[in-house]
Amino acid sequence: MPSSRIPGFYKMSVQERLEKVAEFAGLGDEDKRLLLEKGLSLDIADRMIENVIGTFELPLGIATNFLIDGKDYLIPMAIEEASVVAAASNAAKMAREGGGFVTDYSGNIMIGQIQVVRLNDPYSAKFEVLRHRDEIIEKANEQDPILVNLGGGCKDVEARVIDTLRGKMLIVHLIVDVKDAMGANAVNTMAEAVAPLIERITGGKVCLRIISNLAVYRIARAKAVFKKEAIGGEEVVEGIMNAYAFAEADPFRCATHNKGIMNGISAVVIATGNDFRAVEAGAHSYAAMRGYKPLTTYEVNENGDLVGTIELPIAVGTIGGATKVNPLAKLSLKILGVSTAEELARVMAAVGLAQNFAALRALATEGIQRGHMELHARNIAIMAGASGEEVDMVVEELLKIGKIRMDVAKEVLEKLRARS
Ligand code: NAD
Repeated sequence: MPSSRIPGFYKMSVQERLEKVAEFAGLGDEDKRLLLEKGLSLDIADRMIENVIGTFELPLGIATNFLIDGKDYLIPMAIEEASVVAAASNAAKMAREGGGFVTDYSGNIMIGQIQVVRLNDPYSAKFEVLRHRDEIIEKANEQDPILVNLGGGCKDVEARVIDTLRGKMLIVHLIVDVKDAMGANAVNTMAEAVAPLIERITGGKVCLRIISNLAVYRIARAKAVFKKEAIGGEEVVEGIMNAYAFAEADPFRCATHNKGIMNGISAVVIATGNDFRAVEAGAHSYAAMRGYKPLTTYEVNENGDLVGTIELPIAVGTIGGATKVNPLAKLSLKILGVSTAEELARVMAAVGLAQNFAALRALATEGIQRGHMELHARNIAIMAGASGEEVDMVVEELLKIGKIRMDVAKEVLEKLRARS
């Protein structure tokens, strides 16, 4: 099996990196051409959304070093923010020394919500809904024979009476196994289809019929042991524990802690053509279920090593939505080598943990600016007009001067050009 540990990957040219990835993932010439030249065509884009006038691109980077459940992965990440891909790769390298990431997944189960109002006796209506569970499931499953034939479909019905600004309402949940899809269309179709039946059963009026992004039955988990020697010793372990305790106790910090996790996860969600708003909404609402809390935990084991875990809902698909429409998304799945939604979610959980660990380690030691600054300087140098070898020279000079500013970059570039 090829290894995702590719020393010096970051120093290679784009072309060289692509060759390495092609070798790892078995990409052909057409795949390479898609990445380097073609991208998402206007023709396809015009069929994806409305009022298209062009396409909008993001850099696609590859995080290396990931060992997840004993399998090597190269991780495609689509993101505009510098340092994220490097940080993920670096964390994955450290996790490798403790055996990599192990993961867990609760199943491809989504919730469709049906809101019932105008009920005189909501608890009686709840009883009647549950009493007619089989009939509701049957009606829901008539909508999606493909899913049902694959072993998926509506599996259960839940009902809750909630207190609202407009009095008591009955909320019915369809519990649907969506298999390898993200599932929103599938579940929404079912929720709409059972609405008249639920009105008949309850005597009430159905309003909203829509999936919930708080996918509590679609939980992905990952764990990694970061050996203290691999991450910089006891002081780093203590620094990360302090950083974690800070996030656990303070929502202002926790928002940024969880944002850092999503830096990694959303980049993979986007690269694979999945719905990043859905995953973000799921992550933050899950984090807020018992007061807003970190999606990761950190502990120190008996050897003094750091043990990190992550737990969040990850509703992504390898089929449906844009995953099979956007050829770049298909290619990302090929690079990852995953074919099921389950495996994709497990990988994303591992990436989220890696990203969070890297951020905490940087914050607890040198701060994140050093890493950021070099990449920032690179952007500034390019914006100032540097090209080719000039870029490295301007970056070096800017870092030496300690002023990463456009005016300084222009000055440095002028001097450089005057000299040569
Ligand atoms: P979809 O309807 O395109 O594909 C799912 C369908 O594919 C299934 O219903 C099934 O009939 C078929 N299928 C074939 N092989 C399958 C397999 N192996 N596993 C599962 N299904 C298989 O897509 P979807 O996943 O139902 O919906 C995703 C889309 O919904 C995304 O584009 C998302 O942005 C959008 N959406 C999201 C929300 C939300 O998150 N709140 C709301 C509305 C729409």
